[in-house]
Amino acid sequence: MLIDCHIHCGLGQFGGVRKTDIADDLLVPRMKEILEVYHKKGVQAVRDGGDASGIGINLRDISKDSDLIFKTPIRAFFKKGHYGDFLGDSVDNLKDGIKKMNRLIEQKPDFIKIILTGIMSFTEFGISGPVGFSKSECSEMIDHAHQKGLSVMVHANTPEGIMIALTSGADTIEHGYGINEDCLYAMRESGIIWVPTLAPFANIARCDDVSPMRKYKDVSEAYFRQHQSMVRKADAMGVNIALGSDSGATLVPLGQGTLDELGYLLDCGLTEEKLETIGKRVIDL
Ligand SMILES: [Zn+2]
Repeated sequence: MLIDCHIHCGLGQFGGVRKTDIADDLLVPRMKEILEVYHKKGVQAVRDGGDASGIGINLRDISKDSDLIFKTPIRAFFKKGHYGDFLGDSVDNLKDGIKKMNRLIEQKPDFIKIILTGIMSFTEFGISGPVGFSKSECSEMIDHAHQKGLSVMVHANTPEGIMIALTSGADTIEHGYGINEDCLYAMRESGIIWVPTLAPFANIARCDDVSPMRKYKDVSEAYFRQHQSMVRKADAMGVNIALGSDSGATLVPLGQGTLDELGYLLDCGLTEEKLETIGKRVIDL
């Protein structure tokens, strides 16, 4: 069973679609095309990472009549003024976060997504956007989701962000760029699941010479190499690692992105069996 634990069905010029960019009568056919792409690629389950238009809720409805298992947070939460405006709802403070989460829960998300940090710079290796939520905001929001019976996926880069997510009780950590050995030990102790999303940087590093992304090739290759070596180390240590492609990101198409990520993880020494076992756990969270 091939499972992708991190896609964005509402993003990207390579297959995704935002609800606001499409006429109502085209929405269902487009969603059916996405289901067909996953069927053709042999992907049986995917977990969405949300987008501002909340199209996951539409794909989830349509997927019920298909063989694809689809889970979605509908929209993610990010700290006002920080990274994430195309992925969901901005949160001003804890009170606002709880209020917005309660409102989202009325739409029955399968889990909650919190964007804790920015992304890595495409131009300068190792530079990352700041951490958005404080430790107490992050842990209180996660506690609230858990009390409502929902698991929490946390987008976190840099050791600082990863440790806040870990100690706040996140169920999965997404991306984790810049991860260090202390984080890996803490991940192993907690049993948390790490979704390293190698494909976005790996695919930019492999883009052709006419791609507008070619100027980021060298930096992307450096991130990819560093991340692969940490994934290899994590796997050898016994950290739980799940396949998540971040499909919908630039140069990571829905469907093919899952196969790309699988290839990168197998190169790190992971096995399809292991990825299936952890993937099933993530889908059932
Ligand atoms: Zn993502």
